[in-house]
Amino acid sequence: VRKVKVLSEDDIERSLKRIAHEVLEKNRGAQDLILMGIMTRGVFLAKRLAALIESIEKVTVPVGELDVGPYRDDGKKTDYCKTKVRFPIDGKIVVLVDDVLFTGRTVRAALGALSDIGRPRMVQLAVLIDRGHRELPIRPDFVGKNLPTSKNRERVNVNLSEIDGEDGVYIIHL
Ligand code: 5GP
Ligand code: MG
Repeated sequence: VRKVKVLSEDDIERSLKRIAHEVLEKNRGAQDLILMGIMTRGVFLAKRLAALIESIEKVTVPVGELDVGPYRDDGKKTDYCKTKVRFPIDGKIVVLVDDVLFTGRTVRAALGALSDIGRPRMVQLAVLIDRGHRELPIRPDFVGKNLPTSKNRERVNVNLSEIDGEDGVYIIHL
């Protein structure tokens, strides 16, 4: 197993700052904006993005935590749900946030989870890493880094200080 670092702590910080600005540019500010992190690491990224947007715009951006487990269509389906959304999402602009986008099935599940919570007027997608190999017609609006990977022989490791003790993105060659 070979491990290659592709993003440092500073790289991640710069990507998130750029994405924060892109979200504000696309939506002409933070009005009606909600960030929805997909558990687990998407939640930490959503909180970081919210803090960056807040420091740029001087407004508060609500952050929700989405557990897509019960909405999955694969072997990873769960029957309990840890979703935490303590505010209405009807009519809002919801930005889904995740660490890695791969087949798109997690995002499909997230859209199902969202529609059980309310009806946003728009849903956008921000991911730190897009590793390709989509199996559904899903594409991100905001990307930290495109990392073309081998579908079976590589994985991406996203370490975030909140749970992994350090910030860094690695490609693992299996
Ligand atoms: P998808 O559902 O698009 O196939 O995969 C995306 C979800 O699985 C994300 O929530 C992500 O956390 C996880 N995932 C898929 N591939 C990888 C990977 O190579 N590395 C990491 N860290 N997570 C992945
Ligand atoms: Mg995940």
